[in-house]
Amino acid sequence: MNEQHMNPGMYTGSGQPRNRLYNFGLTMVVMGASFILYYLGLFGTVDGPLTPANMGAALSGLGVTQRHVIMALLSILIGALSWNWVFNLTSVFIGARMTCKAAGKDGDGVCGATVKRTRHLSKRSGQTVVEYVCPHGHRRPEAHFHPVKKGPISNTACLACLAFVLIAVFCV
Ligand SMILES: [Zn+2]
Repeated sequence: MNEQHMNPGMYTGSGQPRNRLYNFGLTMVVMGASFILYYLGLFGTVDGPLTPANMGAALSGLGVTQRHVIMALLSILIGALSWNWVFNLTSVFIGARMTCKAAGKDGDGVCGATVKRTRHLSKRSGQTVVEYVCPHGHRRPEAHFHPVKKGPISNTACLACLAFVLIAVFCV
């Protein structure tokens, strides 16, 4: 099943306002969060609990050094950058997120059903053969893999993390 077949109006007209509303909502959330951080003093312009100097004093009072903070932020950043790679590699390894590549019923498109990876010993060559079997009875030597792609929230988190790393390295 293809998305275009399920909902023809998705990319023209009717789908557009909802998407715009979603983007608007996301912008408002980011702006709201920025305002809260601003008034907590994160940017150093307003005196609050998150003002870098105050935060530094509080953290060193707890025995946390600048190096600890940078290491923690860097590991979050690396995690945020690489989680989908780890997830995709694991998926390929266990044979998940694969769909059937056989032609669809009406001749156009592909079957697209979730497949199971099977291994069996070929009688002709005497070697183990990998096959992807779908519920409609198709057997193919390969399948279509659907990798997880990062969305706007994930990318925003990456950028925010990067900004905090730079602040921690250069400004504290
Ligand atoms: Zn199939």
